[in-house]
Amino acid sequence: MCDEKGISALDLEIDLHKNSERQGPGSPEDTLRALELIGIAKNKGLKLADIGCGSGGQTITLAQHIDGRITAVDFAAVFLDELNEKSKAFGIHDQISTLERPMEDLPFKEKSFDIIWSEGAIYNMGFETGIKKWREYLKPGGYLSVSEITWITHTRPKEIEDFWRLECPEINTASHNIKILEDNGYALRGYFCLKEDSWITNYYQPLEARFSSFLQRYNNSEPAREIVKAYKAEIDLYRRYKEYFSYGFYIAKKNG
Ligand code: SAH
Repeated sequence: MCDEKGISALDLEIDLHKNSERQGPGSPEDTLRALELIGIAKNKGLKLADIGCGSGGQTITLAQHIDGRITAVDFAAVFLDELNEKSKAFGIHDQISTLERPMEDLPFKEKSFDIIWSEGAIYNMGFETGIKKWREYLKPGGYLSVSEITWITHTRPKEIEDFWRLECPEINTASHNIKILEDNGYALRGYFCLKEDSWITNYYQPLEARFSSFLQRYNNSEPAREIVKAYKAEIDLYRRYKEYFSYGFYIAKKNG
């Protein structure tokens, strides 16, 4: 049992998401589809940064399909430990170095990466802020590949609009986000949105399966119950409103 005193809501979130393949919607197929859209993906000796990598669902897939090295960044040490264990088990530990750091404050040099990758994480610093800041770290002609929560339709029911506006105030349509990319020195090379399996089979179902052990670890405490309740509501909204939003994957090349 854990002592619930001194445990923040963020610690609880991280605890609920540990020991899982991934911490957000996605799949190896989505990762590889995005990789295919990157013109330089087959080059040798690539340098890639995976920002908000979590326990490395996509990091492992990327390392297995590129010739190069990955710097995998997250502020949660527990996820990075899991990623290091996985990369050792897959025999690809020498390709992946982990960095425990907030994504808003990265120690990277200008023009040092061929590819910047980020799945389900850029919303933490904001899409526009993130793509502007991270552009500095890309070599000329380098690629950005990010997934971001995105409206699929031009209008949508108020219930789902209100939910995502609160969770992710910058949520917008793909055309809006593509314009942000174009206005900030990128050329779009591809866009697609994640299918239902990437949400339900790969993320929500394994998450639901961890609810009861998580509640037990925290003695069914009020804060732990609140988190589970919030995720149950989110899953219910996904099931009812999945025609209106998804994660959009944006693949863009740095101009110049
Ligand atoms: N890319 C992974 C994880 C997505 S969940 C996947 O798709 O499975 C978002 C991740 O971003 C989490 O691992 C969380 O710990 C991390 N994160 C959230 N805010 C962060 C910040 N400010 N700096 C660094 N990492 C952050």
